[in-house]
Amino acid sequence: MKAMVLSRAKSPLVWTVLPDRHPGPGQIRVKVLACGVCRTDLHVLDGELPDPKSPIIPGHEIVGRIDEIGEGVTGLALADRVGIPWLGHTCGVCPYCEAQRENLCDAPLFTGYTRDGGFATATIADARFAFPLGESGTDVSLAPLLCAGLIGWRSLAIAGDGRTIGLYGFGAAGHIVAQVARWQGRRVFAFTRPGDTANQAFAKSLGAEWAGGSDEAPPEMLDAAIIYATAGALVPLALKAVRKGGRVVCAGIHMSDIPRFPYDLLWEERQLLSVANLTRQDGIDFLAQVPAMDLRIKTTTYPMQEANTALADLRAGRFEGAAVLVP
Ligand SMILES: [Zn+2]
Ligand SMILES: [Zn+2]
Repeated sequence: MKAMVLSRAKSPLVWTVLPDRHPGPGQIRVKVLACGVCRTDLHVLDGELPDPKSPIIPGHEIVGRIDEIGEGVTGLALADRVGIPWLGHTCGVCPYCEAQRENLCDAPLFTGYTRDGGFATATIADARFAFPLGESGTDVSLAPLLCAGLIGWRSLAIAGDGRTIGLYGFGAAGHIVAQVARWQGRRVFAFTRPGDTANQAFAKSLGAEWAGGSDEAPPEMLDAAIIYATAGALVPLALKAVRKGGRVVCAGIHMSDIPRFPYDLLWEERQLLSVANLTRQDGIDFLAQVPAMDLRIKTTTYPMQEANTALADLRAGRFEGAAVLVP
């Protein structure tokens, strides 16, 4: 197999030939067909997340086909198309797992961070954490659903059932969530980098009724806001944009420091929350609804060996929607 390997934080990934791997008990081997590029991959690359596996093969939005099955795997067959998400393994016995909150497991493994991921021609996964994808939809368009879509789905649930939703950051997750929120009958307000009129037009083309810079006030007070961008300075701005009792949800795994802000931004029962990871049930619920949503997933594809270019383009905001690597 071949893979883009990160040997050390802040160094480029290197296209490397590795010995073929075989699935252990409970595992599957998947031939990778497409793997999305996520902002979290940049945090892994930059060494901003604690205790990564090293060296590591990043990538946690994997669409592939099973080509080898380990002992004891049930419910999956050779040649099945599956999706492998960020949540790669949970312990099953900690208080969080027992309370159906496996996204907070005390001893988890995360794909492309603490176990090898999908910037490769093949990967090994815990079979219980692979989602059957069926045959509808292209490999490339399904890949971004496995993190941007899933985290987006969970963040919308945590935002509550408000009718007006602000989205701060309109990249891979934002462009999917805007469409999911519209499908749920909500009104969407999109906040982009100030002056990024192209991205604002993109947001409107996907159903946002208003789009502006993150430094602008929305035309009305919002029920909830979800922050996908990594700038902590957006937190007080989002609190300012939500009504009494409104919620602000931070959906990223890493954020720069939140600046001090006056208590009256939080007063009147506004809530500030974060979203961490996903549960398998999130994936099952979301993927079951996807066919009805008629999502337009905007992708830019790169050959797997050009993962460094895709990551640099993501960092610089050089494409709309999501980047996807194909072997
Ligand atoms: Zn656990
Ligand atoms: Zn991700």
